[in-house]
Amino acid sequence: MTSLTLQAPAKVNLTLDILGARPDGYHEMEMVMQSVSLCDAVTLDLGDPGGIRAESGLHFLPKDKDNLAVAAALAFREAAGQDWQDLRITIQKEIPVCAGTAGGSSDAAAVLRGLNTLTGAGFSPQELARVGEAVGSDVPYCVLGGTALAQGRGEILTPLKPLPPCHIVLCKPAFSISTPALFREWDKQKRRLRPDTQGAMAALDQGDLVALGRRMFNVFEGVLPSQQRREIEGIKTALIQAGALGAAMSGSGPTVLGLFDREDLAQAAADRLKETYAEVFLTQPV
Ligand code: ATP
Repeated sequence: MTSLTLQAPAKVNLTLDILGARPDGYHEMEMVMQSVSLCDAVTLDLGDPGGIRAESGLHFLPKDKDNLAVAAALAFREAAGQDWQDLRITIQKEIPVCAGTAGGSSDAAAVLRGLNTLTGAGFSPQELARVGEAVGSDVPYCVLGGTALAQGRGEILTPLKPLPPCHIVLCKPAFSISTPALFREWDKQKRRLRPDTQGAMAALDQGDLVALGRRMFNVFEGVLPSQQRREIEGIKTALIQAGALGAAMSGSGPTVLGLFDREDLAQAAADRLKETYAEVFLTQPV
């Protein structure tokens, strides 16, 4: 049996835009993504008898191929032309579930990276990202990580200049959001608020956190049901008042992120939000 433990970082969206609906039922996306230091820990025990399964200690997470980590293992085995039968995947969950922070996709990406090492398959990071495409739209990004522009369904990735040193506060309110419902609502809307993605990329290129903060925006914020929208706006306002350079919802929510250049302000903002919200995290870009 061979074992390996990997970090699976959460992802946040500095911007999220939808360019249009596609004939295949997906939407054409344009997103500036960033991985952060909030991580699940994924341990692989290859050869551990019992088939391919995922254990997380969370009763509501699937253990079979409905778990993205198992789906990734199956996709990897097929792509590598291997025939091993036994893999125990142990996931220590730290990333909130259904939060817009790609926890499941990041677990899947960690499995791909880990199996590549354990089996010596020798896929390049780009090849591994391609194996992840069938597992989920965010998996290719999670394989590569860092700061990147994601286009298409999220699988067309362009690395961007890393963020200058900064701090990112995450706050997840208690409600959950249906991603398909948000896309349906977006399809219906005529007038849409949109992020300045080019401006955000130029700000990154210049290492200008203030300019980047001003351009953080997620189009899904404009199509939320009104009560949820009010709560997201409330968290954004609290972050900005606490000194964030910008704030936006991540992915299809409901996690909100605030970008800070000063750690003391970020810490104070996180402490303040913890008085109201159970899931608040102070992170850095990774
Ligand atoms: P994204 O930002 O990519 O939209 P998310 O943060 O909204 O992701 P996840 O927590 O990644 O959502 O996934 C939530 C759904 O995926 C749940 O229905 C959960 O049962 C299922 N799932 C499958 N595998 C995992 C996993 N390893 N971790 C978390 N959720 C998983």
